[in-house]
Amino acid sequence: MANNSEYFKMIPKVDVLLEDEKVIEFVRIYGRQIVVDVVRECIDDIRMFVKQAKSESEVYDKIENLVFDIESTLCKKTSLSVKKVINGTGTILHTNLGRAPLSQKHLDKVNNIMAGYTNLEYDLEKGKRGLRYSHIEDKIKYLTGAESAIVVNNNAAAVMLVLSTLAKNKEAITSRGELVEIGGSFRVPDVMEASGTKLVDVGTTNKTHIDDYENAITDDTALFLKVHTSNYKIVGFTESVSLNDMCKMGSQYNIPVYHDLGSGVLIDLAKYGLEHEPTVQDSVKAGVDVISFSGDKLLGGPQAGIIVGKNSYIEKIKNNPMTRALRVDKFTIAMLDAVLTEYLNKENVVNNIPILKNLTLNKDDIYKKANTLLEVLGDTNVELRILETQSQAGGGSMPLLEIPSYAIGIKSKVLTPHDIEIKFREFETPIIGRISHDVFLLDLRTIEKEDFEMIKEAITCL
Ligand SMILES: *Cc1c(COP(=O)(O)O)cnc(C)c1O
Repeated sequence: MANNSEYFKMIPKVDVLLEDEKVIEFVRIYGRQIVVDVVRECIDDIRMFVKQAKSESEVYDKIENLVFDIESTLCKKTSLSVKKVINGTGTILHTNLGRAPLSQKHLDKVNNIMAGYTNLEYDLEKGKRGLRYSHIEDKIKYLTGAESAIVVNNNAAAVMLVLSTLAKNKEAITSRGELVEIGGSFRVPDVMEASGTKLVDVGTTNKTHIDDYENAITDDTALFLKVHTSNYKIVGFTESVSLNDMCKMGSQYNIPVYHDLGSGVLIDLAKYGLEHEPTVQDSVKAGVDVISFSGDKLLGGPQAGIIVGKNSYIEKIKNNPMTRALRVDKFTIAMLDAVLTEYLNKENVVNNIPILKNLTLNKDDIYKKANTLLEVLGDTNVELRILETQSQAGGGSMPLLEIPSYAIGIKSKVLTPHDIEIKFREFETPIIGRISHDVFLLDLRTIEKEDFEMIKEAITCL
């Protein structure tokens, strides 16, 4: 310890460091305050280090590196924390990786608008205040067939808002088989409670009949709620009441029907060899009064909660003061506008929305992509192989769906699959893959050709 107190004398003082040529340069680049703070932080680190240091040379090395440490700390603190990652998991809507990726074409369109002022709430024809929702309402109406529409922050917000508007201090009847937990502590019963609605759950986990609903009706019943079990399926001895029958029951008792649809699918996925996922149009056609769905699940747009339905109900929702607290910003409106516009061209939409493109990519094209990646990678010091695998929809959508795909399997003589996983994850542009049967896999379904060079670099750095 006596020795270590000598080491403390080796640590440069803050004032001295601030006169270092390189540190002066940092001040010019990053500004004085943050550089001073980081210099102090790094000196504190060295003090901690010195306390346990075992030799003078160790301390000497640490001090030698001080300016370098200051620079890398500054770099880290001043760069964006959110960054691009390469998704090699094969999970198309990866909740942890930002759900729906957006297309560069749409971002370029929106980019131009976001940099300056916009007509977000300005009616250019009348020269006075306009409505932000007007920019997308007509398109949503046209695409879904609904009478009216509004957009809020996300579908969880939409659920809260619909319940609070139509069933606050009243009862909403829902099936026990549909008490969904979406994840991130979003549970239908909890949201209902938070919105001030009393949940009346009827039926059993596997079966709910129409008279289960009917028997639960009281003077306080304000809503029939149907929740799409988007992230699980109850199979076997099951029965639920169809949307058509729920709507008939709704008209008979004069109680509105609300459908929380989860993913907002606007096209028939069965046409692309996938299972049919209920569409927004299906619900509108069945006569549902209010429907809500996410903007960034299978719709493939920005995070948003879209509410459509009959005029009188949507009007009430628009006038709920809570709507103001849940409103979307100009980025969401512009991005949603760009994505919805793509849906106007039914023939091309799956090619122009990344989520739909990845979902419908066929196996042969993925195999070709895997071969191209192997060509780009060329000779490496790891063992590379094309392997058959299964991709998933993810994001709490289509839980049973396993889509055939191909992955590149990476094996090393010196690194374990776990080591490779870490190194790829810590790469400058992190590459996220998965380990299956003791091989590190990169599923090509969710990897773009533009990312191949980056993968090559990461493999070179292994
Ligand atoms: C995903 C989902 C939600 C929540 O939507 P977010 O856009 O994530 O807020 C609500 N209900 C259902 C049925 C869902 O699948």
